[in-house]
Amino acid sequence: MNPIKITGARQHNLKNLTLEIPRNTITVFTGVSGSGKSSLVFRTIGAEAQRQMSEMQHSFVRSRMEHLGVPDVDSIEHLNVPVIINQKRLGGTVRSTVGTATDIYTSLRLLFSRVGKPFVGYANIFSFNHPQGMCPVCGGIGQTRQIDINRLIDTTKSLNEGAILFPTFQPGGYRWLRYAASGYFDNDKKLADYTEEEWQILLHAEEHVPPNPSPQWGKTVRYTGIIPRLERDILKKDSKELRLREKEISRIVKEQSCPTCHGKRLNEKVLSCKIAGRDIADCAAMPVDELLTFIRSVQAPGYETIIAELVKKLQHMITIGLGYLTLDRVTPTLSGGESQRIKMVRHLDSSLENLLYIFDEPSIGLHPKDLDNISRIIQKIRDKGNTVLLVEHDPDLIRIADHVMDMGPGSGTHGGEIIYQGTFDGLRTSTGKTGRYFARHKTYNQHPRTFTETLTIRNARMHNLQNITVKVPRHVLTVVTGVAGSGKSTLISEVLPQQHPEITLIDQSGIAGHSKSNLLTYLGISDIIRNLFAHANGVSNKLFSRNSEGACLNCKGLGVEKIDLAFMDDIEMPCEVCGGSGFRPEVLTYRYRHQSIADVMDLTVEEAVVFFAEQQELHRHFTMLHDLGMGYLTLGQRLDTFSGGELQRLKLSTQLKGEHAVVVLDEPSTGLHPADTEKLLALFNKLIAAGHTLIVIEHNLDIIACADWIIDMGPGAGKDGGQLTFEGTVANLLQHSDTATATYLRKYLV
Ligand code: ADP
Ligand code: ADP
Ligand code: ZN
Ligand code: ZN
Repeated sequence: MNPIKITGARQHNLKNLTLEIPRNTITVFTGVSGSGKSSLVFRTIGAEAQRQMSEMQHSFVRSRMEHLGVPDVDSIEHLNVPVIINQKRLGGTVRSTVGTATDIYTSLRLLFSRVGKPFVGYANIFSFNHPQGMCPVCGGIGQTRQIDINRLIDTTKSLNEGAILFPTFQPGGYRWLRYAASGYFDNDKKLADYTEEEWQILLHAEEHVPPNPSPQWGKTVRYTGIIPRLERDILKKDSKELRLREKEISRIVKEQSCPTCHGKRLNEKVLSCKIAGRDIADCAAMPVDELLTFIRSVQAPGYETIIAELVKKLQHMITIGLGYLTLDRVTPTLSGGESQRIKMVRHLDSSLENLLYIFDEPSIGLHPKDLDNISRIIQKIRDKGNTVLLVEHDPDLIRIADHVMDMGPGSGTHGGEIIYQGTFDGLRTSTGKTGRYFARHKTYNQHPRTFTETLTIRNARMHNLQNITVKVPRHVLTVVTGVAGSGKSTLISEVLPQQHPEITLIDQSGIAGHSKSNLLTYLGISDIIRNLFAHANGVSNKLFSRNSEGACLNCKGLGVEKIDLAFMDDIEMPCEVCGGSGFRPEVLTYRYRHQSIADVMDLTVEEAVVFFAEQQELHRHFTMLHDLGMGYLTLGQRLDTFSGGELQRLKLSTQLKGEHAVVVLDEPSTGLHPADTEKLLALFNKLIAAGHTLIVIEHNLDIIACADWIIDMGPGAGKDGGQLTFEGTVANLLQHSDTATATYLRKYLV
């Protein structure tokens, strides 16, 4: 069978690579962060596979396909149809649940429509998204939103001063005019001084024609009070505005469980249909493992195939370690790792062969115990006759590779090459950073820091937590461990901050900002660099800003031009005028220490540490980033291209201003090569030495082994978890505990 042949790959930092990937095997791509793994696997191979496939599609289908842009590569031959399983959260609205996303709910509906008593209709009406199935009061959402007047209205202001705190109701806005020109109100009167009647008209009046409107009032326009108006225009419909103004709306509404369906989302008729005493919403509210037991117990002669199909799908959920989830869980609340595994479920039964599966760090969010299952699934996918590519840092997954491609040797411009290819055993003897990591003898923290002060979490009962009380030591490194779904995040990211407001939570979510934000603007140091250029050349510092006079006129400083394709998302291409720098060409004639501002934007953090060695403030920031394993980032890199792990480490570098902060991190090792994990650990030690307290949720054994204190959650997931299974030092864990974490840590240390 012909291998996939890639010729002349130059995307981002790739050094004109030519390589072959054997088909029907698992190839794992390793290498330090920034070495070029994603550039090769996703941005080149994945993108080209999608591009080739989309060329064969009808434009309607094409418009619905995700795509990754056009890669910089001479050719790729013998590609298969790609299936890209990434960490991108499933997202969606509250109408998307685990049940709908996996199609398991479809099978459940079918079962209810055939076996449920009484018979109420076809499978469709068991859907909360179907007009005949949904609860009429909440429209199938299970919750009702009510406008919270206190948050909507500032009674210390008049209409002219903007008393109604919502866009379009502010002075001059088109909705504002409907009240200001209605003839009902004195527009300068503070709302606090309104009479009972004025309040009534302002807030609650039904639609009608006002008797004495002012001249701006349109002839045919009717008046409606603010509340019915907002409800009708925004809340009731799935309006465009509802989506566009989600943030503002959530600020002015309270959500409550729907008083009619009590959160079940369906109407009375549908809920009257039961199997063995349970309606379909009861089933969707059970954790998948319990639901499986229940479905197996259903006696329904003649419907064995429907039951078998449902049982098979539920078993798949358990196999991928998600047996603790309920089908009614809405997908936007799932973590990246859970989302990725949900995407996998759909492929477990696929009988299609010759596909190209591409996975992005499938180990994320998984305890070593959960990883065993994932390894098996990936091997099964290969055995069906597919080709699998993995970008992965986790040693236990790298081990299953038939073929390893190690990229490096360094990051950014120092990377972009294949430094080893061959078997996993061969990798151990290779001299790259990955090889050295595997050859290294693993140790654990035998001299943990001691402590006197603690934070106590009392009687935690949220989600699956079973009323637990636990002490978290101050001024040490605590690692919180346990299988996925055992309750780590609930305990540490939710309950702990509720009980101790001083907690600094540093998560992986995006940083708001527009597309011109970059590393320098985020750190607040771009002005220093502009001033250096201005001073050296005797010109205005504004010239060196892409948001100001320095901006390339063609691309407005973005460096890219968006190409609007009728049936696809926009594609970004480097700007022809400035070549991607975003600066006006004449700005680049000014130099600071022989470099143009664009050259400086292209420096990696590692290079900047040296280049700006004499600029104290800059040097301090760049050294910090370098210590966090981010030496490969370029100064001008846009924030919206950062991974979740990178964002989290970036926030860590800037948010520790106060002394003695208590900091919570959720999987900070995400996306880090073992060599960079060492840097992260070194930084943790520095922070603790400076008096901070670190509480880290982690599956990474390198980090677990270095903990001063372990809090282990379990023993299982969901209702089988939520208990404290161990607290103490690593040495104690190894000696006395038989939890899954202890077992895997022992294996790691041999
Ligand atoms: P890895 O996946 O090994 O961590 P990447 O392929 O993401 O590495 O990065 C390789 C190099 O390409 C890095 O120097 C990185 O900064 C750069 N890079 C990645 N994405 C982009 C992008 N969207 N635009 C410009 N440079 C990028
Ligand atoms: P871990 O961090 O150990 O993976 P979590 O704390 O995320 O575990 O989850 C513990 C339990 O709480 C699981 O059963 C999970 O499904 C449930 N859970 C987590 N978040 C939510 C939520 N937003 N709504 C309902 N249940 C949740
Ligand atoms: Zn309802
Ligand atoms: Zn330009």
